[in-house]
Amino acid sequence: MKYIGAHVSAAGGVANAPVNAAAIGATAFAFFTKNQRQWKAKPLTEKDIDDFKAACEQYGFTPAQILPHDSYLINPGHPEDEALAKSRTAFNDEMLRCHQLGLHLLNFHPGSHLKKIEKEACLARIAESVNLAHEEVPDVCTVIENTAGQGTNLGWRLEEIAAIIDGVKEKERVGVCIDTCHFFAAGYDLTSAKACTKSFAEFDRIIGFKYLKGMHLNDAKSTLGSHVDRHDSIGKGNISAECFRWLMADSRFDGIPLVLETVEPKIWPQEIAQLKRWAGQPPLSTQ
Ligand SMILES: [Zn+2]
Ligand SMILES: [Zn+2]
Repeated sequence: MKYIGAHVSAAGGVANAPVNAAAIGATAFAFFTKNQRQWKAKPLTEKDIDDFKAACEQYGFTPAQILPHDSYLINPGHPEDEALAKSRTAFNDEMLRCHQLGLHLLNFHPGSHLKKIEKEACLARIAESVNLAHEEVPDVCTVIENTAGQGTNLGWRLEEIAAIIDGVKEKERVGVCIDTCHFFAAGYDLTSAKACTKSFAEFDRIIGFKYLKGMHLNDAKSTLGSHVDRHDSIGKGNISAECFRWLMADSRFDGIPLVLETVEPKIWPQEIAQLKRWAGQPPLSTQ
């Protein structure tokens, strides 16, 4: 079974995310548990938590179908100690919020060296941030998102992600989310079924499918290897539809949240319906 959805708004309260996801026919969703552009947020109240859990139950979303995303401000590999500590505190808070909501995954951006430390030192800091978060908050699995390699962002080469995982103590609590736009912009070709087979064989060889905990399904306005992160609607960009048809037909992508972050939210219902058709699943949610 493919879980297919989008990164939906949680404006007005986290319980609105499953409501918004159900409204577009999604069987998976991503959301921010707090404002993604601010460091601090009010703690979740009992009511926030109860309402969220009730809405997920009502619309049939289990934790396996939900991939919360952390704040854009957090840099778990920050080269400066004070800023690193600030990022770690914020990251642990994101983990706690997920745990309070009964969720099992937290998608995060690995971080940037800002040209102030060596790549290896930055990757070690990221792994240590993950270890500290695991010590602080139980159960939640930290999910490393691959990047396009824009600026000094690490985690665009599969070897970098493998190096982070290597430094994590609790291997069963770390995973990877592959964003197709980022993967393509990082230089992994996805423009044909043959190219997809090859790129995901690389993924399997260097990281392993057992670590794949989610996907961001985005076509790309940017070009192969450009290191530019510009999403496009499915089938409208440089990746093109064949990749997404290939993904939907491959059972290695079953049972994990597959989340659109495409540029036209108003066509998400059609994009989700199309992806479900390619997966051989009924277009309308049966839940
Ligand atoms: Zn992301
Ligand atoms: Zn992106």
